[in-house]
Amino acid sequence: MKILSLKCVNCGAGLEVKEDINDFACGYCGVQQHVERSGGIVSLRRLEEALDDVKLGTNRAASELALTRLQADVAAICARRDSQVGALRAADARNSALVGWAIIAFAIFAIVMYGWWSIPIIVGGFIFGSQFLVPVTKRVKAIEANAAAQIEPLKTQIARHQSIVDSYDFGTAANS
Ligand SMILES: [Zn+2]
Repeated sequence: MKILSLKCVNCGAGLEVKEDINDFACGYCGVQQHVERSGGIVSLRRLEEALDDVKLGTNRAASELALTRLQADVAAICARRDSQVGALRAADARNSALVGWAIIAFAIFAIVMYGWWSIPIIVGGFIFGSQFLVPVTKRVKAIEANAAAQIEPLKTQIARHQSIVDSYDFGTAANS
């Protein structure tokens, strides 16, 4: 068994630590420490610091998972909204074409039947036909508002999880 020669992080005393030991308390001052091995370098840290990092890392992993899930939720809401608006606009285009042809047929019929007196009737026909176009815009706005209302609370959660992930990155940068 290899023995590592290390210095206590608290009192600086020379310590002989067996290679397979991860956590121990200094024999001189009693401070608990954790043996860290990374890239062939062995060093000691206060145990509570090492545990804080593990906890933070767990929070970070949970937040990253939550971020992935929340962003997928937002994308799904946007996709559903876009497909609803697309379907509505396609139906609207078909209806508009129908209304357009109905107005033309009505105008021709009116001119044949009533001559010049048909002009106010045709104008009335346009106003009547245009009423069918207004509610579509309202319905699109309602769909968009509904989607925005669903996304809003998710945005708050995304911001919270993002700040947890960012704070961890910041902490790592500060330690190195
Ligand atoms: Zn010590």
